[in-house]
Amino acid sequence: MYHAKAFSAASATSPLASSTIPRRDVTNRDVQIEILYCGICHSDLHIVRNEWSDAMPTVYPVVPGHEIIGRVTKVGSAVTKYKAGDLVGVGCLVGADRTCPACQAGLEQFCPEVTFTYGAPDRDLGGVTYGGYSDSIVVDEHFVLHVPAVLDPAGAAPLLCAGITTYSPLRHWGAGPGKRVGIVGLGGLGHMGVKFARAFGAHVVVFTTSPGKKEDALRLGAHEVVVSRDATEMQKHAGSLDFILDTVAADHDVNAYLNLLRIDGTVTLVGAPPKPLGVSAFSLIMGRRGLAGSNIGGIAETQEMLDFCGANKITADVEIIAVQNVNEAYERLLKSDVKYRFAIDMASLKGEQARETVTSRTTVG
Ligand code: NAP
Ligand code: ZN
Repeated sequence: MYHAKAFSAASATSPLASSTIPRRDVTNRDVQIEILYCGICHSDLHIVRNEWSDAMPTVYPVVPGHEIIGRVTKVGSAVTKYKAGDLVGVGCLVGADRTCPACQAGLEQFCPEVTFTYGAPDRDLGGVTYGGYSDSIVVDEHFVLHVPAVLDPAGAAPLLCAGITTYSPLRHWGAGPGKRVGIVGLGGLGHMGVKFARAFGAHVVVFTTSPGKKEDALRLGAHEVVVSRDATEMQKHAGSLDFILDTVAADHDVNAYLNLLRIDGTVTLVGAPPKPLGVSAFSLIMGRRGLAGSNIGGIAETQEMLDFCGANKITADVEIIAVQNVNEAYERLLKSDVKYRFAIDMASLKGEQARETVTSRTTVG
């Protein structure tokens, strides 16, 4: 075991602060990574503040971060895919049983034994896993991704969650030529959804609550932009869309989007508001419409997405921040005041003196 620098939260109301965390020594199957950048996902904020307490209570202290880009510093003796110096990524998954039907189908995110990058039982060290707001991490090579060298590392970090979370459902529900696709919410996930849906050849309509994002939506690839608080504008799209990807992080009316679907169209939720959404039966039965959900993507599909991004020069639009500004960044994220993803430059951790040492003692929020 060795110690790494990190930023952690001690409770749902504590700010993130400098700390020292344990990491396992490299085993024969592991890759050790110096973290260069880590994106800030809205899930980090939900979890740090224990907003998903009903579904998955947060275990404190928590070190968030699952949009990790770094350089390999060391590999175990059995590692075949990576060598020191490689540019690599780690997303939301660092473990799964690799034998169950979900794993065999390349859907490790649905494995009953899945280990998420932070806040999941740590099978090696005890306690829970710690995420990417840190200067290094050790991960089984199966869960490490190659990052194409043509991609800017900071802009590539959000691909590991926001990228795959939008790429996977857009592929699954066949977003492509001849399809009219709606993207709801132009945040970290939403702006990646726009880029992918456009790259796949779909007609893309963005639904935003922020009139000030209209021009950006068009620049990012939308063909049309609708301010969702304008009922007349919304009505113009009634019954017209094949597929809608809903990325909204807060309470909102999903019926307003179901009503924009064609017969047999689907609204897929990737946003995970803490409270249940009210769904009217009529929104579904009038038009045999579907309401679905999607969770990130498996490892093979994440690599496919990164390779697609390399071939098509797709990265996230990022605002790079120092780790010391992470608490302020969370407040701005809540106000949708980021274009369109924060990426933490982990070089900013170098001068930090840890205010606390995290042991394996934990409390559930
Ligand atoms: P984000 O950057 O904060 O984007 C969310 C966007 O939703 C905002 O930019 C805003 O867009 C819109 N929005 C916010 N509040 C709203 C409200 N009250 N009513 C309507 N629209 C609102 O967040 P993110 O990182 O993209 O994450 C979005 C959600 O997806 C979070 O709940 C996160 O936990 C979840 N998530 C799920 C997965 C998965 O695998 N399923 C993976 C990652 C994240 P406009 O300003 O354009 O309206
Ligand atoms: Zn995420």
